[in-house]
Amino acid sequence: MAKIVINIDMDELRSGINQVVDDDMYEAEEEFICPLSTQDSDLNDKNREYAIQEYAYGHSVKNWEKKKEICGTCEYYNIRSNMLDCIENGIGMDEGDEVGYCTKLDFTCMAENVCNAWEKGGPMTDFDDIDELEPIEGNEKDIF
Ligand code: SF4
Repeated sequence: MAKIVINIDMDELRSGINQVVDDDMYEAEEEFICPLSTQDSDLNDKNREYAIQEYAYGHSVKNWEKKKEICGTCEYYNIRSNMLDCIENGIGMDEGDEVGYCTKLDFTCMAENVCNAWEKGGPMTDFDDIDELEPIEGNEKDIF
């Protein structure tokens, strides 16, 4: 009678080598989910209030020295299309309003407003090559 011997390398088995990867599982992990504050006005208002109290979020004053340092040019300002869809289909936005999502303080903020947590490098957009665009005065990207 023939004898079949199967060698199993337990270390390799445990390491995951040769295991089938379920692509759907990884796709599900990467799926974009709207921030809750874009769907819940009360939460959005609460987080905006926190931004006002802790970071002086609000309108920029006339002759604002750093007038380029507005939400619209902040690295935390997300105006990617999927995020704008979240806002529009969630808490909504008035036509003509330049609204985006602040990824630092978790609320929807207005492009022309300011706060003390501003950082250069924004906004986040759908443009893949946004980082290659030449900045104009004030470090903001040349898309406005
Ligand atoms: S962190 Fe940036 S995007 Fe957020 S409120 Fe402040 S300036 Fe606006």
